[in-house]
Amino acid sequence: MKRLLLAGAGHAHLQVLKSLAARRRRDVEVVLVTPHLRQMYSGMLPGWIAGHYALAECAVRLEPLLRTAGVRLVQDSVAGMDAGRRVVRCAEAGEIGYDVLSVDTGAELDASSLAATDAALLPVRPLEAFVVAWDRQAERFLRAGRAAVAVVGGGAAGVELALAIRHRLAHRLGGDKARVTLVAGGGLLAGHGAAVVARAEAALKQYGVDIARSHAAGAPAGLLLASGEELAADCIVAATGAAAPGWTKDAGLALDGRGFLAVGDGQRSISHAEVFAAGDIASRTDAPHARSGVYAVRAGPVLSVNLQRTLEGRPLAAYRPQRHSLYLLATGPKEAIASWRGLCFAGKWVWRWKDRIDRAFVARFDAGLNLPAGKPS
Ligand SMILES: Cc1cc2nc3c(=O)[nH]c(=O)nc-3n(C[C@H](O)[C@H](O)[C@H](O)COP(=O)(O)OP(=O)(O)OC[C@H]3O[C@@H](n4cnc5c(N)ncnc54)[C@H](O)[C@@H]3O)c2cc1C
Repeated sequence: MKRLLLAGAGHAHLQVLKSLAARRRRDVEVVLVTPHLRQMYSGMLPGWIAGHYALAECAVRLEPLLRTAGVRLVQDSVAGMDAGRRVVRCAEAGEIGYDVLSVDTGAELDASSLAATDAALLPVRPLEAFVVAWDRQAERFLRAGRAAVAVVGGGAAGVELALAIRHRLAHRLGGDKARVTLVAGGGLLAGHGAAVVARAEAALKQYGVDIARSHAAGAPAGLLLASGEELAADCIVAATGAAAPGWTKDAGLALDGRGFLAVGDGQRSISHAEVFAAGDIASRTDAPHARSGVYAVRAGPVLSVNLQRTLEGRPLAAYRPQRHSLYLLATGPKEAIASWRGLCFAGKWVWRWKDRIDRAFVARFDAGLNLPAGKPS
């Protein structure tokens, strides 16, 4: 029997699992290697920090999905692979062979330039480690009755996190006891339109987040800014963009210049016909696009079709990623900013819109799973 190996339970793989749950294959063994029993939905994370959601609302439970899809779980992490021998090496479970492999393990974050600090350093990736660390840190702040947080990274995640953290801490400690600074050396919301940047700046000011437009390195008391100024902080949240995991280097697969898996049309590896990748770990060499959940989600359906077609020896379906994507940025209270091709909309209705989209995404993977065995193909 052929084996389809899914590495990581990222956004694209959720859709592969969902389609296997709807049409279970009895002629193929499907194995998922992933370290956690749930898949965090990052779009709702700022809402969890701000206190609008329970953590369980922000995650897809994997076990019911896997049971219905007939997929075997290996609860572990990919630590390496040898594409020549068609094996993936897990951190604990050893080697697993495959006929077809699909990788959706997300990106990592390189926070090494911030490491030389005595403040608590909380990289936002992996998300599972971040939520545990943030929960503990928030408890510490509540006990101390005051907080000084620096969020490093001026992209969408950094802006949303800074606003969410400030909202939560100001609510619990009082505005004057909760200092939050967004450190945005690379600029604020690069790639978004001027109206969106202006609206985000206004929200940061309105809700009491300071902005330091400077690169920063870790320093004993917090951060050392490029200006030479020190920024004292008890906690540094690193939201400094995506980096490729180290294991791709020796995998034997074609990579882009930064170590991400190079894929082409149909999300297939440009070097190995039996290997696919989607989400932040992948780089479309023919149609480069930003790393964001939107693209990971959009790649899911075509990935699902192409894995099935490869198992059946059929030609692949083509997929051209969209050129533009909608961003909905939560601003702390139940308000949000929409960014679409340079246009900007903001307000409580944008939050309600975002809330509906996000909840529907998570719910989609619980819905219809009470069918006992899925329909065999
Ligand atoms: C705070 C925050 C807010 C964000 N908000 C948005 C937003 O609103 N809209 C948007 O489009 N994007 C957003 N993003 C970006 C978005 O999170 C990522 O682009 C998206 O998660 C990428 O999806 P993915 O499927 O590639 O991987 P991930 O969602 O990172 O999933 C990877 C999966 O693989 C597993 N895994 C990791 N390493 C291994 C390994 N070695 N072996 C096996 N399994 C592994 C993980 O446990 C996880 O299940 C946000 C990011 C952050 C940090």
